Amino acid sequence: MNTYDFVIDNASFLITCDSTNSVFKNYSIGINGKTIAAIAPSGEINGTRRYDAQGKIVAPGLINTHTHLAMTLLRGWAEGVNLQGFLERVWAAEGAIMDGATAKLGTTLGALEALLGGTTTALDMYLFPESTHRGAVEVGLRHIGGPIFFDFPGLDGMQWNERIDFAKKWPAILTEIGGPAVPSYLMPHATYTCSPEHLAEIAEIARETASSIHIHASENENENKEVQEKYGKTPTQILDISGVLGRHTVYGHGVHLTEGDISTLVSRSGAVAHCPGSNLKLASGIADITTYRDRGVKVGLGTDGCSSSNDLDMWSVMRLAAHLISHTEGPERVSASEIFRMATIEGARALGIDESTGSLEVGKSADIIAIDTNAPHLIPIHNLFAQLIFAAGRDDVCDVWVDGEQVIENRRSTRIDFSVLRRDVEERMNALTSLKK
Ligand SMILES: [Zn+2]
Repeated sequence: MNTYDFVIDNASFLITCDSTNSVFKNYSIGINGKTIAAIAPSGEINGTRRYDAQGKIVAPGLINTHTHLAMTLLRGWAEGVNLQGFLERVWAAEGAIMDGATAKLGTTLGALEALLGGTTTALDMYLFPESTHRGAVEVGLRHIGGPIFFDFPGLDGMQWNERIDFAKKWPAILTEIGGPAVPSYLMPHATYTCSPEHLAEIAEIARETASSIHIHASENENENKEVQEKYGKTPTQILDISGVLGRHTVYGHGVHLTEGDISTLVSRSGAVAHCPGSNLKLASGIADITTYRDRGVKVGLGTDGCSSSNDLDMWSVMRLAAHLISHTEGPERVSASEIFRMATIEGARALGIDESTGSLEVGKSADIIAIDTNAPHLIPIHNLFAQLIFAAGRDDVCDVWVDGEQVIENRRSTRIDFSVLRRDVEERMNALTSLKK
């Protein structure tokens, strides 16, 4: 019998999200170092260390393809407003409190919330990316941050040339900080905050540094109108002409894409991070992800930031995504297993990291979650994926591994003391008092 460093043993259900969507009963995973080394029936493999997964559903960690983790600190700060009202209110608060240290604190808080709910990877757009990356890596998240671009100096006070210089150094900074391996991303905010000339410059730096690109695009109709009035083009046309879409690109939202936009995204192998919770809350519209997927656009799921959608709960995002398809196209168009794949392997494809994570397969990183089925709302199990999408929630996630390291054990971080983090957050929030009405 083969022996591995560590075995997640005897899982009641093992969901792989592999190419044939294999689900096994009473199965085990052998892990060596950071990597899945074996998947076999229980009793066929041994481990130096062992985790008993009886009564658990073991699955790939979830992948949040669009968020702003540091905005956990502004949860509930901009309520009852649309996107424009939201941006005005949030940008004022950010101006009052955000610096590198605060962004790091908010990102640690967000990364911990994400991990506790079973998210092991997040694509996170926020200022002070070096600080945010350190904050997320501290709790063990596979965190994909990256340099942010606006035409104007942002809260970080950086001028355009400083942004460009910083972006050139980003891959080296990632290496220096360490943590779970992630690709380099550059993150221009949107086509209404970055000029086509600046976007072309970013595309060039992305080529030089072998980086992908993450950008908000066509989030609501107003954005499309504004960009159309300014340039006579859709955001996607701007991104194509400027060369951005020549790099692997992930759209935050992509709610309002024209037929032509969809064709362009397909031909450029672009991806959309579908954020139904944020889109519904800000009344931005409903992305037609069935059409996107049918046409060949890669679609992952995202929460967006906590000041627009209030939490980092990928389970509620999965459920909303399913309900929206049901509402617009009929329940027969909803496949719970496809929704789960969108939150895992399809999310990894959207981010260009499906070679290394997103499914439980030999050779991939051991990014794994265990869901405890020992709860009244999770028995009996007639349809496993329906149970996960329509009945389970983030509180059911009990244990989480990233790169084979257990970062959540019995619903607690193995890396940090939450009471200390909580005290730091509360102290920092005193700075907001003067802004409260
Ligand atoms: Zn966003």
